[in-house]
Amino acid sequence: MQNLLIVNVPKQKASLLADELNSIGLRVDASSFRRGAVACTGTEFCKLAITETKAFSRWLVEELEERIPGFDQHLKLHVTGCPNSCGQHWIADIGIEGKKQRVDGEMVDAYYFCVGGAVGQFASIARPIGYRCPAADVPAAIERLLRSYLDLRQSHENLRQFFSRHSDEMLRAFLAGQEVEAITRDVASGPVPRGVEG
Ligand code: SF4
Repeated sequence: MQNLLIVNVPKQKASLLADELNSIGLRVDASSFRRGAVACTGTEFCKLAITETKAFSRWLVEELEERIPGFDQHLKLHVTGCPNSCGQHWIADIGIEGKKQRVDGEMVDAYYFCVGGAVGQFASIARPIGYRCPAADVPAAIERLLRSYLDLRQSHENLRQFFSRHSDEMLRAFLAGQEVEAITRDVASGPVPRGVEG
């Protein structure tokens, strides 16, 4: 979601510059996943974090680009490492909140899903839909959700409309690949730091 502005480039050299930027990893024609991704600081530098977010988000974007190339919708994909929501997962189309989950006896990074947030004319708070999975399974879950959208969308129905047309139970089933019971969000037992629990 951040832009780098390079000024005074002659038009005839713009594509050459774009090629050079692409070659060093600053993609000019970025996918909707890359354009819409936001991650908070996470465990790397934040003492409040529950999960690592930056490297995870880069990996998530690359996975989604491979899994669903050419995805044709704008998508705000926000990753936040704890309930404080510096990654603003409450206003994302898909906002995921860092948790821990026990897998084979070990605590691993996990994410809880909120779906359908937006700002602007159709502003709304993302719905906590009762689905959580280990961080390693997030790309597959999002792929299932977005493929459900591509398969089931009505004529001219955008992603936001699709999310609002479906219940929490259905969105959860799309993410999980089957109907699953809702899990609780593991909200903090008391006020979280800075008091911005969603
Ligand atoms: S959301 Fe939590 S983990 Fe992320 S930067 Fe804010 S306080 Fe730190």
